[in-house]
Amino acid sequence: MKRNSPLLFLIVVLVAVGAGIVFTQVKATKTMEQDSTLQKKVLWQKATELPFTGIFDNFFEEGTYHCAGCGAALFTSSTKYNSGCGWPAFYDAVNSGAVEEDVDHSHGMVRREVHCRKCKGHLGHVFEDGPPPTGLRYCINSVSLDFKPKKKEQK
Ligand code: FE
Repeated sequence: MKRNSPLLFLIVVLVAVGAGIVFTQVKATKTMEQDSTLQKKVLWQKATELPFTGIFDNFFEEGTYHCAGCGAALFTSSTKYNSGCGWPAFYDAVNSGAVEEDVDHSHGMVRREVHCRKCKGHLGHVFEDGPPPTGLRYCINSVSLDFKPKKKEQK
């Protein structure tokens, strides 16, 4: 029995390492699935991504933000600002016809829900604590947006 102990120990270590590798791969696959699931949940079930987790929260490149559901232009970088709330914030939409609103009574609050006018995909909420000239804060989920950078020749 004693002679087999180092071999047994080695087998136990190898099995543990193997299990760790499999676990890591399963976790990575799940994270990718969760990303697309989150986008569907936000766009079509009005879920909200966790604050400070979205890719456009702390992102200030020049360009246009399009609907992740249908590709319609919704916001531009010129109205984006850092509100500190944990989600991308804009003080206006790209034009008055890009987004529309519903009254949202969920979570014991009355909020102005914002969605894409074209495909009705949920974007976020609009609050009246934004900067001039509108005084609005469009608080938008990153997963509801696709970003198209401004072309150099347009600058
Ligand atoms: Fe859309």
